[in-house]
Amino acid sequence: METYDVIIIGTGAGGGTLARHLAPSGKKILLLERGDWLPREPQNWLSQNVFVENRYVSEDTWYDEKGKPFQPQIHYFVGGATKLYGAALYRLRAEDFGELAHHDGISPAWPISYDELEPYYTQAEQLYQVHGARGEDPTEPPSSAPYPHPAVSHEPRIQQLSDQLAAAGYHPFHAPCGILLNEANMAYSTCVRCANCDGFPCPVHAKADAEVLGVRPALEHANVTLLRNAKAVRLETNESGTAVTDVVVEHNGGTENFAGNVVVVACGAANTARLLLASANDKHPNGLANGSDQVGRNFMFHDSVAVLALSREENPTVYQKTLGLNDFYFGSDDFEFPLGNIQMVGKSQAPMFHGEKPGETKLAPEWTLERVARHAIDFWLSTEDLPRTENRVSVDRDGKLTLSYAETNAEAKKQLYEKLHSILGKLDLNPGHLFHRFAYMKNEIPVAGCAHQAGTCRFGADPGTSVLDVDCKAHELDNLYVVDTSIFPSIGAVNPALTAMANSLRVGDRLLERLAA
Ligand SMILES: Cc1cc2nc3c(=O)[nH]c(=O)nc-3n(C[C@H](O)[C@H](O)[C@H](O)COP(=O)(O)OP(=O)(O)OC[C@H]3O[C@@H](n4cnc5c(N)ncnc54)[C@H](O)[C@@H]3O)c2cc1C
Ligand code: SF4
Repeated sequence: METYDVIIIGTGAGGGTLARHLAPSGKKILLLERGDWLPREPQNWLSQNVFVENRYVSEDTWYDEKGKPFQPQIHYFVGGATKLYGAALYRLRAEDFGELAHHDGISPAWPISYDELEPYYTQAEQLYQVHGARGEDPTEPPSSAPYPHPAVSHEPRIQQLSDQLAAAGYHPFHAPCGILLNEANMAYSTCVRCANCDGFPCPVHAKADAEVLGVRPALEHANVTLLRNAKAVRLETNESGTAVTDVVVEHNGGTENFAGNVVVVACGAANTARLLLASANDKHPNGLANGSDQVGRNFMFHDSVAVLALSREENPTVYQKTLGLNDFYFGSDDFEFPLGNIQMVGKSQAPMFHGEKPGETKLAPEWTLERVARHAIDFWLSTEDLPRTENRVSVDRDGKLTLSYAETNAEAKKQLYEKLHSILGKLDLNPGHLFHRFAYMKNEIPVAGCAHQAGTCRFGADPGTSVLDVDCKAHELDNLYVVDTSIFPSIGAVNPALTAMANSLRVGDRLLERLAA
C-alpha cells in the first residue's frame, strides 16, 4: 500500500481550503470525499427542486435525544456545505476571541487571539474573492488589508433600506460577499447576479465555494489526488495508539485502506465527531483523541431565524444579500448582553412557501403567495449559541448518530427579533407584517437546520478540556489534525465559513513547516 504524505478527509470550507494551501508543496496529498461533484444541471436554480424537494440534501437520518429521527440539512458533495452556502464571508469580531458574558452564560475564549488569525483572514478573503467595504461596520475588527474586491452594490430597494436605517441612526454596512462578480464589466463577470444564490448551488461556478476555489485549483497539481464517493468510516492507529496509520474507506461497494503520514479530518462538525467516536480502539476506548471526553460535545449552531417583512411597495430586488447590521451585536440600550447579527437572506419566492395558504397566517386572504413574495424583504437574524457539554453528538455501535441539543440564549434571540420589529416602522415597512419565514416554509428549524454546526472537537491549551492543541493537532496523537468548524470553542454570531477557511490556512502553515522538516 502506498503511503500519502497527507490525507485530508472532507473537501468543504476546512478541507478544500487546506488542500489548495498544501498543493504547491509537491507533497503526495489524497483528498477523500464521501460525495460526488454536485451535478451542474438546470435544477440547481429551481426553488421547487432545491427548497421543496431538497434535491441536494443528504438522505442521512439522525436522531434527537428522544430517539426521534430527522433528516439533517447537510450536503455531501465536493466542496461540502459551501456548494449551497450564501457566501456571506464574515470575520468573527475581535471580542469573540476573548471571553464574553451572555444572557445564558459565558462564551469561552479561543486559545488564539484575533491578531494571530488576522493575517489568515486577509489571505482567506483574497482566496475566496470577498467583496466588501471596510469602515462601515462599527463592530468590524482591525484588518491589515482592504477587501480584495469592491462591495457588491445595493439594488434600489435595499439602498433605500440602508439610507433609512442610517437616517434612523443605525450603521448598516455592505455585507461581505463571496461571489465572482465584476460589476464594472458585466460582460466579463462570471457571476450574473441572480436571485437564486443563498441556499442554491451555482451552475455557472460563480460562487466562491470550496470546490471552485479550493479543490479544483488544488487538483491542478499532479501531486494531489481526489477520490470521490469515498466515505471514511474508521481511523486505525499504531499499536501504541500514538499515531493514525490508515484511513478505512467505503468506496465502490467495498472497503479500502489508505495510509497517511499526516491525517486531517474535515468532515463537518457532526461527522468529524462521528468518525473519531467510531474509531475507538483498545488505546482509545472512548473514541480516538477522546481522553478528555470532549469529542462530540459543545455542539453549537446559530440561533437563527429567517423573517420576512412586507414592504408597502413591491421589492423587486434580485440579489438581496448585500446589507448587514451589527448595531445590536454586543447588546443594546435596554439589554446588556450580546444580541447578534442582522443580515439579509436570499429573496423569498412563492414556491418556497410549500403551498401554504396565506390565510393560515395572520395575513388577509387577498395576500396571495405571489404577492407576499413580491413585497417581502427578507432578514436573517443570528444570535450566538453557547457551548454546553450536554449538547452533543454521540454514536452507537451501529453507527447511529444522535444529536442531543437544548437551545441557549433564547431570550437574546427574542430580543433581537424585537429590535428588528421596533425599527420597521421607521423603514416604510409595516410593523404588523413581520413574519417568521419558517412559518411559511414549514421548516422546523431546530436541530435539523444544522447549516452552521460547530464545536464538537474544540481546540485549546488544556488537554483536559479540549480535543486539539493550539495547532489543531489532537492532544493524544502525533499526526491527527482537524480543520473544520468542529474546532470552534465558541461560534460568535456571524457566519462561520471564513473563520474555518482562515484557520485552515493557519494550520496549513504549521503543516508545511512539519512536512519540510
Ligand atoms: C444553505 C447554507 C447556507 C449557508 N450560508 C453560509 C454563509 O452565507 N456564510 C457562511 O459563512 N457560512 C454559511 N453556511 C455554513 C458553511 O457552509 C459551513 O459553516 C462550512 O461549509 C463548514 O465547513 P466545514 O469544512 O466544517 O464542513 P463542510 O463544508 O460541510 O465540509 C465537510 C465535507 O466533509 C465531507 N464528509 C463528511 N463526512 C465524510 C466522511 N466520513 N468521509 C469523507 N468525506 C466526508 C462532506 O461531504 C463535506 O464535503 C451555510 C450552510 C448552508 C448549508
Ligand atoms: S448570484 Fe452569482 S454566484 Fe450566486 S448563484 Fe447567481 S450567478 Fe451564481
